[in-house]
Amino acid sequence: MRRISRPSLSKHALNILAKRAGLVAASADKVKRCHELWGQRKNKAFQEIREKLGSSCSGRVRCMYCEDSEATDIEHFRPKSIFTEHAFDWENYLLACSNCNSNYKRSKFPLDGAGFPLLINPMNDDPMDHLDLSLSTGKFVASSHRGIESIRVFGLDRQVLEDGRRDAWSIFCALVARYSAIRRDTSADSAGLIVSAIQNQSFSCVSLYARKYYLTGVLSIVAPQDVCRILDDNPEIFDIST
Ligand SMILES: [Zn+2]
Repeated sequence: MRRISRPSLSKHALNILAKRAGLVAASADKVKRCHELWGQRKNKAFQEIREKLGSSCSGRVRCMYCEDSEATDIEHFRPKSIFTEHAFDWENYLLACSNCNSNYKRSKFPLDGAGFPLLINPMNDDPMDHLDLSLSTGKFVASSHRGIESIRVFGLDRQVLEDGRRDAWSIFCALVARYSAIRRDTSADSAGLIVSAIQNQSFSCVSLYARKYYLTGVLSIVAPQDVCRILDDNPEIFDIST
């Protein structure tokens, strides 16, 4: 999981959401009304919402939670079955894969004693403040209570995800070595394709953690020496937009 910026939504789409939020608020059975209105999304406003969220996802429209599968579902960070007032709230929308949405997070939403969410919202929070990543194992290590709860609820410790992050780190190192060879022998365009491949990999958080560890001087503990040397000589590899 990585930090993701939320784009702005058009006035038209925001008005549609506000109108629906008003209809839910005025209803005697808010959950039922919410469910009815949520089923009516074949319109330009929700097309725009999906496109804007999709354009914000990392890589090739990867899930904002697992970063592995294609993000297909508009996800309510605060579950709409509990927080009906946030069912039509742009600030409450993420884009997730159906597995994360339907089989892991579902309607779970733990709160602390003061009513503050214990889950990391990748569009509001920086997951790096709560999670460290072991590049060699692909395991997230929680550095806060919110990190612990996010790993548990989002299922970020699934074996298939840990294996994927570990493999993404191996691929990152291989691509860095390839980048160096191409820079020596061929065109800048070919080298640019390698940087693009690094940035568009699934599990893009791996590149971000590698950059963080590089900047804090600890990457050399886990990265091969030649990879660190190439990164020293080619800082553009870490020119990743966040
Ligand atoms: Zn997912």
